Amino acid sequence: MNTLEQPVCLICRSANLHSYYYPPVIFNKKTFTYLECPVCLSAVITPLPNEEDFREMYGESDHAYLLKLKEDEKLNFTFLYEPYNHQKYQLDFFNKYNYGSAGKTLLDIGCGSGFYMKYAEQKGLECYGIEFDEKFVSLLIKKTNLKLSTFKTFEKEFVGKTFDLIHIGHMLEHSINPDEVLAFAKKYSHENTILIIDGPLEKNKCLSRWLIKTVSKLKRKKHNTYPPQHITFTNYNSQLRLFERNNLKKLNYEVAEQMFPLPNRFTFKHPLNSVLFLIARSSVNLSKLHPKLGNLFHYAGRFN
Ligand SMILES: [Zn+2]
Repeated sequence: MNTLEQPVCLICRSANLHSYYYPPVIFNKKTFTYLECPVCLSAVITPLPNEEDFREMYGESDHAYLLKLKEDEKLNFTFLYEPYNHQKYQLDFFNKYNYGSAGKTLLDIGCGSGFYMKYAEQKGLECYGIEFDEKFVSLLIKKTNLKLSTFKTFEKEFVGKTFDLIHIGHMLEHSINPDEVLAFAKKYSHENTILIIDGPLEKNKCLSRWLIKTVSKLKRKKHNTYPPQHITFTNYNSQLRLFERNNLKKLNYEVAEQMFPLPNRFTFKHPLNSVLFLIARSSVNLSKLHPKLGNLFHYAGRFN
């Protein structure tokens, strides 16, 4: 849809949306508001960001961790592997379901830092990654030696090529067209390709989410000014619905919980942070009691 059309739910395609409690975001001299879908309970931002908004959102500051490395210094990924962090969960699921033995090649769509590819490479897979920004891709190649390209170059170079595993990690929620991302994955799939998808469930139930929502409602902030990088917000059922609607047959679907956006380190120096840390950790433990509680999902499936 373009910005002039009536907003639709990008998860279930319903057009009957109502306002959602998230304060509007003022970004790039525009006001973005949030709408909720009464059918699947997802939320979506409106208007959808355009190309210029995206350029503002994902500038150089978004990969500051690469820019601060010394000239010939390579990126060390171990800082990402802390417990209760979403990257660590993605790798834990990779091991749990033994994806390393499910094929020989892996395509990572929206690979970010490339941590998933690096890990999969160590497990013996031949990996290829795609990202949007040309500058980011060339910097990342220099700092990681991974095989990467932009979407444009990839589509030219890989005509007719398929991969055994395709990973989409924490990327769908950034897309103004999740259906298109899944269709792109399908284009590079053969009949046995396993599509592995990880992401947040920002409208799912768990103690920390409930607390964040309650505090936000009490604060009644007029607006925020962060870059609105997340376009869709899903829960356990709506996330699954998106995959079913795109003709994926489920192999695995699980919920986990990260401590982010609450602190994942305890510190005596900042009392409020310590309290938030304890709440986040309690929430993680509480969510272990029920399989649908949490704020992250892991999915694997095949196209029908
Ligand atoms: Zn919906």
